[in-house]
Amino acid sequence: MKVLVINCGSSSLKFQLIDSQTEQCLAKGLCERIGIEGSMITYAPEGGEKEKTVTPMPDHTEAIRLVLEALTNASTGVVKNLDEIGAVGHRVVHGGEKFAQSVVITDEVLQTVEECNDLAPLHNPANLIGINACRKLMPDTPMVGVFDTAFHQTMPEEAYMYGLPYTYYEKYKIRRYGFHGTSHSYVSRRAAEVLHRDYEDLKTIVCHLGNGASISAVKNGRCVDTSMGLTPLEGLIMGTRSGDIDPAIIEFLAHKEGKTIDEIMTVLNKKSGVLGLSDNLSSDFRDLEDGYHKGDANAIRALKTFCYRVAKYVGAYVAAMNGVDVICFTAGVGENAGIVRSFVCEYLGYLGIALDQEANSRRGEDIVISTPDSRTTVMVIPTNEELAIARETVRLVG
Ligand code: ADP
Repeated sequence: MKVLVINCGSSSLKFQLIDSQTEQCLAKGLCERIGIEGSMITYAPEGGEKEKTVTPMPDHTEAIRLVLEALTNASTGVVKNLDEIGAVGHRVVHGGEKFAQSVVITDEVLQTVEECNDLAPLHNPANLIGINACRKLMPDTPMVGVFDTAFHQTMPEEAYMYGLPYTYYEKYKIRRYGFHGTSHSYVSRRAAEVLHRDYEDLKTIVCHLGNGASISAVKNGRCVDTSMGLTPLEGLIMGTRSGDIDPAIIEFLAHKEGKTIDEIMTVLNKKSGVLGLSDNLSSDFRDLEDGYHKGDANAIRALKTFCYRVAKYVGAYVAAMNGVDVICFTAGVGENAGIVRSFVCEYLGYLGIALDQEANSRRGEDIVISTPDSRTTVMVIPTNEELAIARETVRLVG
């Protein structure tokens, strides 16, 4: 079956068409500036030329219409007609406590997703718009929602509760949810496969380090803790997000700088992380790595602080699982920045870890980067959230 995977944001939409039998991506692309002047679609068929077309996209329905047109185009398309697309898999950011699994989308499901909008006001409404636009254009094609939060729904109460009055959990469902679940699930499973180990018999820590970054503890195939919380702001230091801070800093800064809570939240989301720590040098680890090699104090501070936080969380999750067998690095930074993996692992001697420097310098493959005599295995597993969404879609409607 050919599955269209859609990841819809407020003004952008990423798509991939995946053949579920071969698990090959047949074509992929991106619509940008939807509803804004200068909108464009980028389309790349597998093995063909990438093409970028500037064209008006007043709304998401038009964006999806253009995606379908590109996929069925007589010369560069990869399917003859839309009937060849057997199902659509949609990424949905927040499923609250309502969705511990992916679901086939129905009117009732959409209403329940809408009830979670409060918890992800920037993401869920956009995901819903994408789903509705797709349903309009492909009314007979089954659709599946795959939630970023679902994999983390197995966390025990002591891991997901905050030390706040319980009534706020009862009234507003304030608790840890976690994100990047599709990636944490895919990577932890894949690690077990590559190692020929039983997934149900492993203690794995997944470090998903991208622009957004989170870490999870997966014990016997179930997530038992993760670093992102009610929102994706908690936990690790990220590209531009602060991660954990003393909550009293918010009030302190608001007074000192004469800013509103909203303005402080913008600082925490957009101007902090390694960008803020490097005194605005960059949120991109390629720049930080360059800076590090040139001895730039701002780059060194940002990199070291980032890696220290990751190592601290690894320690916490070793405690949470009473041990660890495998530590995986994934996503843009985790897959590409050998320097980050190396700095993090320097803290992990107590787990009997030594890095194989040659393996640590390789890219783009599932690989063990610890030495054979290391007590704990360290791996790089490139994530593939689109493939994971396609698999889930086929599992439900195939
Ligand atoms: P997200 O999906 O959260 O936007 P990604 O997982 O795509 O993020 O990661 C993007 C980040 O990965 C970039 O901002 C950059 O910091 C880092 N990155 C990408 N390529 C490299 C590289 N070759 N070396 C080091 N870091 C890289």
